[in-house]
Amino acid sequence: MPDGRHPEGPTEKCGVVGVSLDGRAAARPLYYSLYALQHRGQESAGIVTHDGFQQHSHVEMGLVGDAFEPDDIESLNGSNGIGHVRYPTAGSVDSCCAQPFSVSFKSGSLGLSHNGNLVNTDEVREELAAKGHAFTSDGDTEVIAHDLARNLLESDLVRAVKRTMGRIHGSYSLTITHDDTVLGVRDPQGNRPLCIGKLEDGYMLASESAAIDVLNGELVRDVNPGELVVLQPDGEGFDTYQLVDTDNSAHCFFEHVYFARPDSRIDGNLVYDVRRELGRKLWEESGVDTDVVLPVPDSGRAFASGYADAAAEDGADVEFAEGLMKNRYVGRTFIMPTQDARERAVRLKLNPIKDVVQGRTVTVIDDSIVRGTTSTQLVQLLRDVGAEEVHMRIGAPPIVAPCYMGIDMASREELIAAGRDVGEIREEIEADSLSYLSIDAVAEALEESRADLCLGCVTGEYPYDIDGEATDREVVRPDIDGAQAGLADD
Ligand code: SF4
Repeated sequence: MPDGRHPEGPTEKCGVVGVSLDGRAAARPLYYSLYALQHRGQESAGIVTHDGFQQHSHVEMGLVGDAFEPDDIESLNGSNGIGHVRYPTAGSVDSCCAQPFSVSFKSGSLGLSHNGNLVNTDEVREELAAKGHAFTSDGDTEVIAHDLARNLLESDLVRAVKRTMGRIHGSYSLTITHDDTVLGVRDPQGNRPLCIGKLEDGYMLASESAAIDVLNGELVRDVNPGELVVLQPDGEGFDTYQLVDTDNSAHCFFEHVYFARPDSRIDGNLVYDVRRELGRKLWEESGVDTDVVLPVPDSGRAFASGYADAAAEDGADVEFAEGLMKNRYVGRTFIMPTQDARERAVRLKLNPIKDVVQGRTVTVIDDSIVRGTTSTQLVQLLRDVGAEEVHMRIGAPPIVAPCYMGIDMASREELIAAGRDVGEIREEIEADSLSYLSIDAVAEALEESRADLCLGCVTGEYPYDIDGEATDREVVRPDIDGAQAGLADD
């Protein structure tokens, strides 16, 4: 644990939105939609708008509710804009990396919100720096902004975006303002989600459809991998351009397992339904007959209800009970500086209901195990209040490798499943039994082939060309100069 900032669970790094309305100010809808995406990032929040003449920006550290005063919202003029919530990547919490990133250049102004992570940032930055670009952060979003700004000096918007897509490699869902035009781009593998919504007086883009729901909008569809969506500044509609085609997508399966809100619909599937289906498959693959099934709140709930339903259909006499209570007011574990403090935080966070557990055999359902700290503590807690047996069932495969695509998953050394088999992990967390879900079951629940999913953290093979790591497909990292030349006549 190098700096004590990692939470016990994996952490989504960002949520993005973009809105174009017919005359109404965009700031307040953007603000509400950021609230709906707060779970995707709690360290900073920001909005950039454009009023047709100039760009306005307000970016602050903190939760959405703390980052904006009423005056800030009032000062963000214009019917078009983007927003962002962020969890920082590594190192100190630093306001320089808060987003949207905004920049003014010869042919206008740009605002950028990014969810994901590029894996060739250094190459592109070095090449741009050699051409005279000066950078204020080491973040990849600034690199994208500079590259796009440079391309916009020579090309129209669509061609400029295509050129930039030909140079950057990795995971990105972007919402962008170019003056008063709002656009959204999803990387050619569609790793992170992005969807289009229709509002009463305009259109929007968002990481998750829950952000459309809060504005009483309707989900139109997901942005396709490799697609550019340009919202018309008058809110009348949108234009789409399929800029890059690839044979296979690489959707992050963890969005469905853990990150996304259960009420969001991602790549055609309601997250809640997927989690219930994963729970059902967990019973089919490794159901264990115990007196009671307990979800780890909150994210284990849908899994556990699917698991218990499937068990009941099989005739198992299993009670589904909310036997673990979460204290919502305990600070997030990642601000705890030491392993010891984090372990105590787990005990403060989850309290078993003794009457539900005492003298009974128990199955605990969780969505994933990262470091194992919570699981170990939980098993001990349940034994302390009198559970006779504690069985763990996990709604995802073992996490054996880090994520380079924008999820704070911990390093290999910190992952309990890296280099250990399931039996060894069971011993480590001292459960009576432990089972994970298979990768095939995840693919089936998502109604996708394995080839269309990113499975990097559970296989150690990635859909992008990452230095020192294996790939699970034929991946061509852009040759920066070549790609630029190749697209020039496009
Ligand atoms: S490595 Fe895992 S968490 Fe990261 S994008 Fe791939 S599936 Fe998602």
